[in-house]
Amino acid sequence: MTSPSWTPPPTPAFAPTPDPLTPARDITHSHFDPGDQVVILKGVAGGELWGDAVHVVAPSWHTPTDEDGWRLRDATGGAQTYITGHPRYLVHLSRRCPECLIHLRAMEDHLLPKYADHDALVDCGWYTTTALGQLVHIADARSGR
Ligand SMILES: [Zn+2]
Repeated sequence: MTSPSWTPPPTPAFAPTPDPLTPARDITHSHFDPGDQVVILKGVAGGELWGDAVHVVAPSWHTPTDEDGWRLRDATGGAQTYITGHPRYLVHLSRRCPECLIHLRAMEDHLLPKYADHDALVDCGWYTTTALGQLVHIADARSGR
């Protein structure tokens, strides 16, 4: 490995990839608590899943799905430090729980084979954030009005 003379921007390659698993996930709002550390999965990097690590802050209405959501704090989020996400977008980092682990494994089985020979950061394009700070999975955006 030669060291490059410049650092490439940490912008992931955008590769829209279907995610049938997150929309079908059965997880309750009360599965999470304020203070929990969770990750919002976004894609694949170097043979592993990657995502944004955020903290659960407080209950908050998730308007894109008209369901109970969670206000989340993203320490690296800049202008959008606080966003609101649906419980099914979240995977526990702070404690090992079977529900989140099962989802994580299923996502790995679904995605990692597709990008087995990929070293770069791949953004699978599942999430967008509205101007009002609502995080929306592509499946929820489609089924919305
Ligand atoms: Zn969990």
